[in-house]
Amino acid sequence: MTIKGTTQLLGVIGYPIKHSFSPLMHNAAIAHLRETGPADYVYLPFPVHPENLKDAIIGFKAIGLRGFNITIPHKQTIIPLLDEVSEVAKAIGAVNTVWYGTWNKGDDSSQESGWCGTNTDAIGFLSPLQALKQDWTNTRAIVLGNGGASRAVVAACHQLGCKRISVVGRNLEKLAWFAESWANSPDIAARLKVMTWEELPDQLQRAGLVVNATPVGMHPNTDASVLSDDELALLPTGAIAYDLIYTPRPTKFLRQAAAAGLTTVDGLEMLVQQGAAALEIWLDRPAPIDIMRRSLLDHLAQA
Ligand code: NAP
Repeated sequence: MTIKGTTQLLGVIGYPIKHSFSPLMHNAAIAHLRETGPADYVYLPFPVHPENLKDAIIGFKAIGLRGFNITIPHKQTIIPLLDEVSEVAKAIGAVNTVWYGTWNKGDDSSQESGWCGTNTDAIGFLSPLQALKQDWTNTRAIVLGNGGASRAVVAACHQLGCKRISVVGRNLEKLAWFAESWANSPDIAARLKVMTWEELPDQLQRAGLVVNATPVGMHPNTDASVLSDDELALLPTGAIAYDLIYTPRPTKFLRQAAAAGLTTVDGLEMLVQQGAAALEIWLDRPAPIDIMRRSLLDHLAQA
């Protein structure tokens, strides 16, 4: 990849950041776009310690960074540092994509500019489900875990039209906060129920979609699963088991689900599609999704 005086910077911030697959995927996309037209960008990982977040954003403006992704632990704490935040990111309470943008001032023709943030995780999560082309209006979704990714999954399940969205957690205080945090999104709040793991078995029999939004089963703990064989066997025929994890592929949870006759979806496509949606915002042109997916598959095959 040729870096010139004109090359514009994109990147990802997190702490730690060295495990991120985003530089691989985005630089593969940029290299491909360069073959077919101008794409003078490079995408870098930036390890930003939480106490340096504000300074990093000021520095990014000073050096004219075009845009960046945000990962753990900055997805929530970056919000007050941004000038504009999309409705979906406000509802989710987390931002994963930022760009330096310009918008019209409310009452006159002058323009304002600043850092704008949105969340493309919900778009990424939805993509493989929308490909199934089914009606979701009678679907009861169960989301295992009540962390950051779970919030994007809840917003996405609401967007799909799911009738009921149940979120399972192990900490009653966090669960109560999770339920209350949707007060500004009454449509979502009306369909949302939070529950403990003890309450889960009774709900599984009626679920059409069960999503693992915990890190249980992720490399290197590949022998772990959030649900037992018996619990997965409670799900009705035709139900979908979705694991946000993409290392390993498949997880134990998805292997159990496949053995129980369920449709399975892993987290790789979500990763690809949330990245593609971010790249399209920064470059204002279609992202080479196949190239991004292939770069990850090749990397995972070598790992
Ligand atoms: P997070 O904010 O740390 O939340 C993790 C959630 O899992 C919390 O609710 C936590 O409960 C729960 N949990 C952790 N260990 C558990 C256990 N042993 N038993 C039951 N619950 C447990 O993490 P996140 O950002 O939401 O990410 C969750 C998973 O999704 C990760 O594996 C991540 O890699 C994956 N992810 C994938 C994508 C993608 O593009 N495919 C995107 C985002 C995230 P407590 O709060 O009680 O600790």
